[in-house]
Amino acid sequence: MIDIHNHLLYGLDDGPLDAESMLELAREAEKIGITDIVVTPHYIEHRFKNSASIVKERTDEVQALLNDNKIDIKIYPSQEIHMFGKELEGLQSGELLPITQGSKYVLIEFPFFSVPDFAEETFDKLFNAGYRPLLAHPERIIPIQDNPEILYDLIDRGALCQVTAGSLVDRYGPDAKRVADELLKKDAIHIIGSDAHNTSNRNFHIREAYEYIEQQFGEEKVIQFKENARKILENEDI
Ligand code: FE
Repeated sequence: MIDIHNHLLYGLDDGPLDAESMLELAREAEKIGITDIVVTPHYIEHRFKNSASIVKERTDEVQALLNDNKIDIKIYPSQEIHMFGKELEGLQSGELLPITQGSKYVLIEFPFFSVPDFAEETFDKLFNAGYRPLLAHPERIIPIQDNPEILYDLIDRGALCQVTAGSLVDRYGPDAKRVADELLKKDAIHIIGSDAHNTSNRNFHIREAYEYIEQQFGEEKVIQFKENARKILENEDI
């Protein structure tokens, strides 16, 4: 399995604090069958400003630790970019990273309590430059919980929707669960990501989410999500 959203890299954001807790989280990923992880530490302008060079350096370090500990997972450096309006400039200057090197997919999150008034403009700039923004966990964003039309408009314009596995299996509260279920039913989800931070309250949960989806909609739906994850990793069109 592939995961394209998580905070496995340690010491950079609110993910694992040290190498030991990172290894614990990585072992959990391996246990549930994850083989490829796009690591997406936060890039938040005034909080976690993890530039591409820092992320790449830590990715190499962590890959070496995984290899030394015989954990059979390949990791790829990326970022979860907190929308700030200068995403395109950041990608062009090399400060920001798409999902994998040279990819058109870029993981972007909104603040939890507001959709920026420059969101459409920012997405349009990215679309026009050939990028496809992947919106992280919209089911957890309060204005989208209140009005999913905001998300549907963005999808109509070309954005992709990443729902967090834990939302579907009720780890993020009733509103996230309700909206995740609605998006699933309306076929408005392109990919499931873990957004894993730790093994206690924010684990991977991807296998449980796939089991849930299979019970509700059959195996075909799960195969489609897995295929989309592969396409995003390999920069193919969805
Ligand atoms: Fe995240």
